[in-house]
Amino acid sequence: MNCHCSNCRRTTGSAFKPIAGIRHEQFRLVKGAEAMLIYGNPDETHDVHCGTCGSLVYSVVREGAYAHVPMGTLVDAPTIRPTAHIFVGSKAPWYEITDDLPQYREFPEE
Ligand SMILES: [Zn+2]
Repeated sequence: MNCHCSNCRRTTGSAFKPIAGIRHEQFRLVKGAEAMLIYGNPDETHDVHCGTCGSLVYSVVREGAYAHVPMGTLVDAPTIRPTAHIFVGSKAPWYEITDDLPQYREFPEE
């Protein structure tokens, strides 16, 4: 999903953040954990940045239940593609969505 919320805009400095969501317990950081910087509450919602280059590696969201991986951080092109725009209700007024993906005012109902 492409997230247009103010947190994602601030964290990335962009109009929106393309993210791939995975249940937190299914996500595993295989290398470099000792170099990560945590911004936020380590037990709940937080962003994890690389301590060497500052890149946003992933975010833990929704009371710790999910990890959101910014697709722009991935080295290899992911096999999945964004399928929706979320939090369009807080989208940057200077950015216009020009594709036909579904738009949700907040997070879509499951
Ligand atoms: Zn967001």
